[in-house]
Amino acid sequence: MKIEQNKVVTLAYELHSTDERKQKVLIEKTDSTNPFVFIFGTGNLIPSFEENVSGLSVGEKFAFSIEPEEGYGTVDKDAIVDIPIDVFKQDGIIMMDILKIGSMLPMSDNEGNRMDGKIIAVTGEAVTLDFNHPLAGRPLHFSGEVVDVRDASPEELDHGHVHGAGGHHH
Ligand code: ZN
Repeated sequence: MKIEQNKVVTLAYELHSTDERKQKVLIEKTDSTNPFVFIFGTGNLIPSFEENVSGLSVGEKFAFSIEPEEGYGTVDKDAIVDIPIDVFKQDGIIMMDILKIGSMLPMSDNEGNRMDGKIIAVTGEAVTLDFNHPLAGRPLHFSGEVVDVRDASPEELDHGHVHGAGGHHH
């Protein structure tokens, strides 16, 4: 059985990217005890990811790269913003314990949507937060093997997610 529309697909793969210094870094690893299971063609994945595994059968291996433009996007400079330091004061005192470079801060926009910003700089005036996806601007290198391919049940197609092993439990 080949990977195509409305098949439940189980993959074991490693996702590598490159960091600021062009070093290869492991981002995610899935295997038989922690597999990646999804319904092909439901639009929940990066389209280019599905294109690269489309037509493969159980046991077939794959290795492909996705450029940032087709992955999590390029780095948007407008998504890097300075927030006045006053926002991070409690009773006039800066909450230094939450302002660590590299850590994520849960923030909300004007409409109340939650978004996480990564702290990239802190000065006496402002905190610089980066709201880009952590993998924005990074190439994605996937390599792995197809573990299982089966038909999705009508119920799974109706719900838009996988039931049973590796999937959703009701
Ligand atoms: Zn369900």
